[in-house]
Amino acid sequence: MAIIITIDGFSSCGKSTLARQLAQELNYVFIDSGAMYRAITLYFLRNHVDWNQTPKVNKALAEINLHFEYNSASAQSEIYLNDENVEALIRDMLVSEHVSEVAAIKEVREFAVHQQQKMGEKKGMVMDGRDIGTTVFPTAELKIFVTADPSVRVERRFKELIGRNPNLTIEEVKTNLEMRDYIDSNREFSPLRKAADAIELDNSNLTREEQLQIAISWAKERLSISE
Ligand code: C5P
Repeated sequence: MAIIITIDGFSSCGKSTLARQLAQELNYVFIDSGAMYRAITLYFLRNHVDWNQTPKVNKALAEINLHFEYNSASAQSEIYLNDENVEALIRDMLVSEHVSEVAAIKEVREFAVHQQQKMGEKKGMVMDGRDIGTTVFPTAELKIFVTADPSVRVERRFKELIGRNPNLTIEEVKTNLEMRDYIDSNREFSPLRKAADAIELDNSNLTREEQLQIAISWAKERLSISE
């Protein structure tokens, strides 16, 4: 029987990489829930939505349609905002600077969580984020909480972004990660927490392949239980 696997943790812990690889391995659907909050933020920024005003947030959310489509060229599912592929645009620093503020809004969370839960109805899914094991799928069969040393995370994120943004400094990346982690952990609605039944995976000293093998072994164990 197919299961649901949740992967939560702080920013830039390599959650999406692990989730994508694990989904490929199991032939499961992979959903990057952070991409949804980023796409909503992009829409708010483009349309100058004042997200401190609830009626304006509600009106904007009613205009937003999000879906994922698999791109065989990049071998990953990519997010569409009102039928526009925004997978690259949502990684912009401007979006990163505001996304945690937007993701802390109750109405935004309800909008995203509802869609995430619908996507997982058939199971066979790996979803990564901040509240997937605690709020979105509290009964998921396997919950992984990924951690990594903060300096390792800053370094990884910097390497990932510098190609697209040559003016970026390591300080900017560090400040952004610290700010997002703080807002994500301290917000009122579904803050970032390790679920009581999540297994912690510290990947500071692991290669992608090593962390993948660990996660596969956990998934196989849970799959054998749910057969
Ligand atoms: O995963 P990623 O770093 O792209 O997520 C961007 C932001 O979206 C996070 O910093 C967080 O504010 C928000 N987020 C969230 N809940 C999730 C996934 C992401 O609040 N499940």
